[in-house]
Formats: sequence, C-alpha cells, structure tokens
Amino acid sequence: QSRSNARKEGMTGITFKDVAGLGTTVDELQEVVAFLKDPTRFNTVGAKPPKGLLLEGPPGCGKTLIAKAVAGEADVPFYSMSGSEFVEIIVGVGAARVRDLFKRARVNAPCLIFVDEIDALGSKRAPAMMQGNEEREQTLNQLLTEMDGFTPDTGVIFIGATNRADLLDPALLRPGRFDRKVMVKRPNTDGRAEVLRVHAKKVKLSKDVDLDQLARDLPGLSGAELVNVINEAALMALRRGAQPTDDEGITLVDIYNAVDRILQGVERS
Ligand code: ATP
Repeated sequence: QSRSNARKEGMTGITFKDVAGLGTTVDELQEVVAFLKDPTRFNTVGAKPPKGLLLEGPPGCGKTLIAKAVAGEADVPFYSMSGSEFVEIIVGVGAARVRDLFKRARVNAPCLIFVDEIDALGSKRAPAMMQGNEEREQTLNQLLTEMDGFTPDTGVIFIGATNRADLLDPALLRPGRFDRKVMVKRPNTDGRAEVLRVHAKKVKLSKDVDLDQLARDLPGLSGAELVNVINEAALMALRRGAQPTDDEGITLVDIYNAVDRILQGVERS
C-alpha cells in the first residue's frame, strides 16, 4: 500500500523488505513504527512514547535506508535534512531552513524527521573561530528549539544519523532529543548475502552466480559498495554486448571484473 503512495509528498515507498542483513536493528525500530501508526495508543497505557533516536554506524550501511523504511512501514511522510548542508553558508540560512522543515512536518504529523550527518551540525562546540561556526551553532540551536517544541504525543519522530557519535554535542543527546542509540553495523557474511539477494532481484543474473559464495569473497564491503558491485557488473555485461533477449544475463566474470574495477579504482575509458 505504501508503494502506491510513493509519489505523494514525502512518502518513501520503502519498507523493511528493502533493508537486508540488519536483523536486530530492524527489531529495535518496530516500536517507532508502532508509535507512528497510532501515536495515541501509547497514551492509553501511560507509556512514554519514543521521540528521537540516533543511528550510528559506518557510511553506506543503510542508516538512511532504514529511516526511510520506518516511515514507509508506518505509511507516514519522511522529511530530511543533512547536517553538511549548513556548513560554510550564509549565517541564518540554515536556521531558516530548519524552521521551514519543521513547519511542513508539523502540519503533516504523524511523520518522521531525519537529520543525516548530524555530526557536521552538532559537533562539540569548537573554541576556534572557525569559518562557518556561527552558522552551524545557529542551525543547531534552531534544531534543538524546534525539537523541544514537540510534545511526545504530537506524533513526530526524530531520527539522526552519524558515523561519529563520539563527536556529538551532548545537548543533542539529552532526554527528549536523540536520546536512544541504535547501531547500524557493517554487514557480516550472511548480511552481505542478504543485501546481494535484495538488489540482485532488480537485475538479470546468470545461473553460475552464487550469491553466498560472492558474499564470502567480499569481506568488509558495505551495503552501498555491494550495490555498486551489482550495478557495475550490469554495466560490464552491457559493455561486452549482452542483449535484452540474451537469457544468460550478468555472469560471474562480469561480477569479478566489476569488483576489480571498484576495488582497484580502474580508470574509466
Ligand atoms: P551515509 O552514512 O553515507 O549517509 P548510510 O548508512 O545512510 O550512509 P544508505 O544511504 O542508507 O547508507 O545506503 C546507501 C545505499 O546502499 C542504499 O540506498 C541501498 O541501496 C544500499 N544499502 C546499504 N545498506 C543496505 C542494507 N542493509 N540493505 C539493503 N541495501 C542497502
């Protein structure tokens, strides 16, 4: 059902089915989905509803994806901003953007507000008079003020993402803000196989491709890197002249050529 809403403003059309290999992380977010689906239910038993949580983990491992899936599962709009957008721009612009974002979210509650790269905005305040600091501080203060303005029963959930939670300004982590931490880790072998399976559905693979073996052969790769391997392999297949009518599809050779190209950074001709 959420897929049919994908074109409505802010709807992601992404669900937990699109998220692979993050088992218990998904479980931890089910409560947030339940809250967004029915914010008043928490009141009836006097339970304290969730308000903000922080996703922490290395780049490309699915933080944005899982936040979008929470919104998609609950069938609520997703509003996002990136902390890095507020670095080195005119003072006051970032704060105005935050106000605008929250204004839109307020009228569309229940909804989810996602702040990516929150460390770019909310690092522990540096004493140096660095360029961009004032803008960053104003934006951060605006964000905190806006977050505090929401009562828990408004039906708005805040999800922040960072790969450096240790750098965050403690003000962001206070109760009622991003006070719950959820780890989004790099996938293990089984996780990598799951990520490959989810994304392999979107392309045509030849029968000789064993995704479990491929997952074992690619230790340390993030979800985003695995997606890159599949996409690059599809391009390899095209380059060697694979046709739409060809029932072979992307071969093992295409895939390992793609891996070489990505890992060795082979120059494109
Ligand atoms: P960053 O810290 O760089 O913002 P991120 O952790 O938010 O990274 P995403 O943007 O969610 O990572 O991941 C990039 C893409 O990689 C996703 O859109 C998806 O296609 C793929 N991907 C990453 N992790 C997973 C996963 N666990 N399951 C399925 N796809 C994944």
